[in-house]
Amino acid sequence: MSVRELVVLGTASQAPTRTRKHNGYLLRWDGQGFLFDPGEGTQRQMVRAGVSATDITRLCVTHLHGDHCLGVPGVIQRLSLDRVAHPVHAHYPASGADYFARLRHASVFEETADLREEPIHADGVLAVGTFGTLSARGLDHRIETYGYRLVEPDSRRLIPELLGAQGISGPDVGRLQRDGVIVVQDRTVTLEQVSEPRPGQRFAFVMDTRLCDAVYALADGVDLLVIESTYLEAEAELATTYAHLTAAQAGRVAAECGVRKLVLSHFSQRYDDLRPFEQEAAKCFDGEIVVAEDLIRVPVPKR
Ligand SMILES: [Zn+2]
Repeated sequence: MSVRELVVLGTASQAPTRTRKHNGYLLRWDGQGFLFDPGEGTQRQMVRAGVSATDITRLCVTHLHGDHCLGVPGVIQRLSLDRVAHPVHAHYPASGADYFARLRHASVFEETADLREEPIHADGVLAVGTFGTLSARGLDHRIETYGYRLVEPDSRRLIPELLGAQGISGPDVGRLQRDGVIVVQDRTVTLEQVSEPRPGQRFAFVMDTRLCDAVYALADGVDLLVIESTYLEAEAELATTYAHLTAAQAGRVAAECGVRKLVLSHFSQRYDDLRPFEQEAAKCFDGEIVVAEDLIRVPVPKR
């Protein structure tokens, strides 16, 4: 069965705390594993969360601040140590290429993994595959930063009762799905007659940024939005100065974009109690809110 879930590896911004490791998120999406922003300690957290290096198919770094990338050396070396056989694609802002090169070759190791660097030069589509379309948009941070959006194409869901009523079963089901039409007992049956529309699932990952158009474009209509909320509204001025979001802003984005499930993360080390983050976001957004904690799993809501 296909699994679509977010495995939270770390939730701290800038400095880790006793209970929160630097950022790190693995999105399991059927057979794919998108590893977003591995901060320090990601390799160890992967072990604790039951994520293996083999699970990673794509590395997506939003920007080259340490809390978003200091785990890259360990993760990349682990790909080779574990002899990961499939290619792993690595996305990061092109302006950070020197930093990424140093992270990739931070220490001596025997590189056998097939890591394919695909730096991001501009907004647009990064990859299209069975998983859907992965695209990136530039955010408004202090250095070049990209958010990510994953969109699965719309499809149709077969309705077993209607298939039965039309006398379609066995290999005919596959044939109907492939061709869109089938002839059974001299009757022509179309896929539309025995199925209903199934909108594709959507996911967005928005890290360090001020509010900007790209935040809304990335989050538009997604099932699951992972978004930074470094600060509470009381520190809104700090948020603007350091180019970050507050929990209230994250909640407003989720409400305006029709998000289904909101995951808040990337918390400043100044906060011990995270309950106010949920309360602040909930004033604007009445959907499901998850205040991320290290090592939790968040299922992508079903369509
Ligand atoms: Zn950060």
